[in-house]
Amino acid sequence: IEHLVWLRNDLRILDNPALHLASIEARALKEKVGVIVTVTPTQWSEHNESDAKIGLRAGLTKTLVKSLATLGIPSHIIHVDTFKQLPDAMTEFCLEHDTKHLWFNHDLPIHEQQRDQAVCQKLQKHQITTHIQPSDRIVPQAVFSQQGTPFKVFTPFFKRWLTLLAQQDIAPLPAPEPQGTPLPESALDYTWAKTFRDDLWPADQDIAKQRLWLFCHHKERHYSEHRDYPMQPATSTLSPYLALGALGPRQCLEAIMYTCNQEDRDWRDSVWLKELAWRDFYRQLMEHFPHLCMNQPFKADTNLLRWRNNPDEFLAWCEGRTGFPIVDAAMRQLKQTGWMHNRLRMVTASFFTKLLFADWRKGEAYFMSQLIDGEFAANNGGWQWSASTGCDAAPYFRVFNPTRQSETYDKNGEFIKRFVPELAHLDAKSIHNPSSEQRIQCDYPEPIIDYKPARQAAIAAFDELKGL
Ligand code: FAD
Repeated sequence: IEHLVWLRNDLRILDNPALHLASIEARALKEKVGVIVTVTPTQWSEHNESDAKIGLRAGLTKTLVKSLATLGIPSHIIHVDTFKQLPDAMTEFCLEHDTKHLWFNHDLPIHEQQRDQAVCQKLQKHQITTHIQPSDRIVPQAVFSQQGTPFKVFTPFFKRWLTLLAQQDIAPLPAPEPQGTPLPESALDYTWAKTFRDDLWPADQDIAKQRLWLFCHHKERHYSEHRDYPMQPATSTLSPYLALGALGPRQCLEAIMYTCNQEDRDWRDSVWLKELAWRDFYRQLMEHFPHLCMNQPFKADTNLLRWRNNPDEFLAWCEGRTGFPIVDAAMRQLKQTGWMHNRLRMVTASFFTKLLFADWRKGEAYFMSQLIDGEFAANNGGWQWSASTGCDAAPYFRVFNPTRQSETYDKNGEFIKRFVPELAHLDAKSIHNPSSEQRIQCDYPEPIIDYKPARQAAIAAFDELKGL
C-alpha cells in the first residue's frame, strides 16, 4: 500500500478530500491506496466519548470497509489504547506495508493535532511523506474580517462566509475510482463496538445520504417555522452522521442548492444552511482560539465566577428528576437515545449554568459522555453560548424560564408525556408545572430550585464581574 489514507471523523467515500487526492495520485503513479482506521478506547474515554458514538463509529466503519472493498481498496484497523501509542503503531504498519505516503484530513481539537504532529514526525524519519487536507467545513479556508482577524460574532462571519462560498468550487468530490477487482470481505476486529440506537441511526452512509435528500425535498422549506418544537420531526437529525463524517457538509450544501433551484428559491436564504454555517463558525473558533480546547472560557473574566456545583443537583439534572418536566423529559431523551433536540439543549444548558449555577464544563462533559453526535467544537460552543462565557454568547441576563419554554414549544405536553410517562395523564395546562398534590400522586419530585431567586442570583453574579 504505497498510499495510506487515515480515516478518523470522515468515515465516507464521497467528498473525502484525503481519499480522493490519494487515489488520484496513486492512479497516476500506478500505485495502490489502502485505508487505515485507528481505535483508541482509553483516549476516547478520557475525551468523554459516548458509547453511542463509539457504537455508531464501529458500525459506520464496518459498512465503509465493505464499500471500499467493492472498489478494490483494502482497509485495516490499528487497535491501541491512547494517541501516544500511535506514532509507533502507524510507523510499524507503514514499514510493513511499504507505505510511502500518508494522507488525512485535518482534525481540530488540540490533542488530535498533537497526535497528528507526532505521527507525521515519526513517519518523516522513515521518509514517509504526509499530506494533510483542510478540515471538514463547507468553507474550508479561513473566514477573516477585512482587518484579517477571525470573527468573534456569528452574523458578520456568516455574511463573509456566504461571499466566500459564492466564489468557490462547491461540487462535492467524487468517490475514488475502482482499483482492480473487488476484494473479499476482510476479517477485521470490531470487538470495540458498543450498543447504540441503530433503529434511529442505521450505521450506513448511504442511508445518511438518502435521509439528507429526503429532508431537503420535504422539510427544509418549513425548517424555520417548525424547528423549535421538539415533538415535530422538523430538523434533519443528521448530526450523528455529520459528527462522524459519514456525511460531509458540502454534500448537505449540494442538496440545499439543488432543492432551492428546483423550487425557485435563493439558497442563500436557507435557514438550514445558516445552521450548517454555525457548525463552520464553531470549528473556526476552535482553530483560531486554541484555549477553547483547554477547558478555558472564551471570556477570561468569567473564570472568576464562583459556580455553586451542588453534587445532588448535578445528579438530579443528569437523571432527569429536577422537578421541571421539560428539563427532565429532555435529559431522559438524551440518556435513552443519545440525542437531544436543539431547543432543549439550550433549555437544559441554561437551566444548568444559570439556575443551578453549575460550571458549564461539567455540563459540557456530561453531554459529551451521552451524545451520539458529540462534537467538541459544537458542544463547547453551545455550552459557552448558554453559559454566557463564550464568543457570541447569549447575553448573561437572558435566562430561559423552563416553564415558559415548555408552554411555548411543547404546548400540549406531548414531548413531556413521551419521556416522563408518570405525568402522562395530566392535562395540557398543569403538565408544565404540576401542583404539589399532582406531584405526590404521580410520584414526581418538587422543583429542586426556585426559579425567580435562582435567576436573580445568576444575574447578580455576572453583574459583579462587570464591577471588577
Ligand atoms: P439540524 O437543525 O437539522 O441542523 C443541521 C446540522 O447543522 C446539524 O446536524 C449540525 O451538524 C449543524 N448544527 C445545527 N445547529 C448547530 C449549532 N448551534 N452549532 C453547531 N452546529 C449546528 N451539535 C453537534 O453536532 N454536536 C454537539 O455535541 C452539540 N452540542 C450542543 C450543545 C449545546 C449546549 C447546544 C445548545 C447545542 C449543541 N449542538 C451540538 C448544536 C445542535 O443542538 C445540534 O447540532 C442539533 O440539535 C442536531 O440536530 P439536527 O441534526 O436535527 O440539526
